[in-house]
Amino acid sequence: MITLNHTYRIYPHTTEEQTLIQWMEICRGAYNYALREIKDWCGSRKCAIDKCSLEKEYILSPELKFPGEIYQLNKLPKAKKEFSLLSSVPSQVLQQTIKQLHRAWEYFQNRGFGFPRFKKYGQLKSLLFPQFKESPVTNLHIKLPKIGAIPINLHRPIPKGFVVKQVRILRKADKWYASISLQCNVNIADPIPHGHPIGVDVGLSVFLATSDGVIVDPPKFFKSLQGKLKLLQRRLSRKKKRSKNYEKQRIKVARLHHKIDNTRKDFHFKVAHALCDFGDMVFMEDLDYRTSAKGMFGKHMLDAGFGQFRTIVKYVCWKRGKFFGEVDARGTSQECPQCGGEVRKDLSVRVHSCPHCGYTTDRDVAAGQNIRNRGIKLISTVGQTGSQTACAVDLPGTGENQSRQVAKSCKRTTRKSSK
Ligand SMILES: [Zn+2]
Repeated sequence: MITLNHTYRIYPHTTEEQTLIQWMEICRGAYNYALREIKDWCGSRKCAIDKCSLEKEYILSPELKFPGEIYQLNKLPKAKKEFSLLSSVPSQVLQQTIKQLHRAWEYFQNRGFGFPRFKKYGQLKSLLFPQFKESPVTNLHIKLPKIGAIPINLHRPIPKGFVVKQVRILRKADKWYASISLQCNVNIADPIPHGHPIGVDVGLSVFLATSDGVIVDPPKFFKSLQGKLKLLQRRLSRKKKRSKNYEKQRIKVARLHHKIDNTRKDFHFKVAHALCDFGDMVFMEDLDYRTSAKGMFGKHMLDAGFGQFRTIVKYVCWKRGKFFGEVDARGTSQECPQCGGEVRKDLSVRVHSCPHCGYTTDRDVAAGQNIRNRGIKLISTVGQTGSQTACAVDLPGTGENQSRQVAKSCKRTTRKSSK
């Protein structure tokens, strides 16, 4: 079973747009109500049963069970009779919102932090349509329950053999998207390690360095866009809140954020494809970039979006049948890739030169080579299990993407920036 997500731009009419926004608001209300129930229940269990909590907590009957997912879902039909607005939303969409809350709740239970929060106005930005009897997508429209056909830009066709499982309608800035989840009932083995290995070290002074000595600089547009963002945000801060001009300016800021997101993602995909062009195995560090983003390089770390980049590389590797591995990140910049000796250097030293064996190369390239060496060690210790060679390339639908990607100028981007 493989699942692909395709995102298409959709163009709802003004009235349709209003309906969608209204649905989101109704769902938000249901979400907040259900969360209130959970919070009240938790609050009522905070003090001992024979003591009265005078200050904050509500006292609920001790027999009352925790408002679980099924309990809350079963209460929906009754609530609909009382609040007629609730029934204007497709019932499955409403159910999904409650399910979303309980997913968040379970996630919180497992992790121990991240209590679900109330959603403020406009914070619920998507609607999930979980089931379709027949494919809702035609060449020009997407058909949604209770709202009808909305024009869609089907910029890439839905691959043969895939069925539409669910559709999520998203609102980003003032644009609308449909993220369509496609499924195909085929099993493919994970790509097995083979061929030319590449170690990839990501960083701030250079975007990434590979073990082959290729260096990709951070793209310039980030900086110029950041400057523009700063300007727009400053203008926004001078507008009177909730005024018409404030709203206009807010949309401008949101649009620019959206643009930065898209540009970054596009850059990441191009680099990921370039990596797959060069090698057959890609290794990266298993760093949790969120922790380093808390440090002094915070903004720049987040701006480069390393976490997203790794996810994208992983996905592209899977799709093109290349092996992807994560290795231990500790001390990759403090080791000599040639002899394994320790070479201490702080961030300002840009050149790696080993006093033990005399090996000299760029600092980031050395780190990339260390990652490659660790990756090779990793796959040789795990052992090469699985003998068949199968990759997603031969599958219906992926083949077409494949040819498109090769035809794209992804190689050129790296060469240009790899001076
Ligand atoms: Zn050395």
